[in-house]
Amino acid sequence: MNSFAFLRAETASEAVKALNTKAQAAFIAGGTNLIDIWKYNLTHPELLVDINRLADCRAIIEKADGGLRLGALVTNADTAYHPLIESRYPLLSKAILAGASAQIRNMATDGGNLLQRTRCYYFYDANAPCNKRVSGSGCAAINGYNRIHAILGASEHCIAVFPSDMCVALAALAAVVNVTGPNGDRNIAFADFHRLPGDQPERDNNLQYGELITSIDLPVKGFEQNYSYLKLRDRQSYAFALVSVATGLELDGDVITEARIALGGVAHKPWRAKEAEELLKGKPATPENFAKAAAVILQGAKGYKHNSFKIELAKRAIIRNGMMALHPQSQRPGAQPSL
Ligand code: SF4
Repeated sequence: MNSFAFLRAETASEAVKALNTKAQAAFIAGGTNLIDIWKYNLTHPELLVDINRLADCRAIIEKADGGLRLGALVTNADTAYHPLIESRYPLLSKAILAGASAQIRNMATDGGNLLQRTRCYYFYDANAPCNKRVSGSGCAAINGYNRIHAILGASEHCIAVFPSDMCVALAALAAVVNVTGPNGDRNIAFADFHRLPGDQPERDNNLQYGELITSIDLPVKGFEQNYSYLKLRDRQSYAFALVSVATGLELDGDVITEARIALGGVAHKPWRAKEAEELLKGKPATPENFAKAAAVILQGAKGYKHNSFKIELAKRAIIRNGMMALHPQSQRPGAQPSL
């Protein structure tokens, strides 16, 4: 039996203040991943701060600059089905609906989605060495069964991948994460929110202890005319991505004027290569040009015993998804685009 204190906060500042009274404390919203890892005995908070009553974090609002602000406590389901998200950011809606199950999406919050932990098998096995769980204990995945692991940006200390679908779209959309903490408020560009493992794989992101995500801002540009999210996995529902790709394009005729491509399932963070996006500018949207972009994105990719197939899979997924983005009608459930 683990005993812990529980506090229900009414405001963000109350939540932050409460959490920072303890060295081992956690915020809880939907709890869909926190409760999992707690049951696995991987975390032991002495204080749980319930943030579900933070009214300011519960809405999706239009910003003065034309973008949208997603409150951190809006559920994944409410976000995916919100009329403004469906019409202006369908890439985000599609990515969210590719993740988890309907039940989990009804509970999981947008802020929590950014903070979910890796699904590396060894991370959840308290008997296995895992630098992410116990710093300095080793990495069982590097020489173990590493089918789901990273091909980009890994280190000798950790080859885990970040499992979110929603965050792959947020990376492509260049979202901004708004946080508050003991030292005040700050904004973090999405590309800087999650981190590569380096020699500190226990850190998934660049939040400081005690900081709370309050909202996520979507810039005006939503790529609602030409977008696609492609998720490749071992089974068609309720599975994490082996490789996923979020693509947003702006076109002048068949010429690309702006491209965004982010990959999931391949690294410790959503993977975006701006050089590849630049390469596509001014080029026709063809399989050949997407193949060139894929080669840039996958420069330096490294496979392990069981996951080398992901390198070729990612290349093909980038090409296919680029072409699917030309046919947004292909995004309808069950539609099969002809490429
Ligand atoms: Fe742990 Fe990372 Fe190695 Fe998995 S890949 S066992 S999370 S250190």
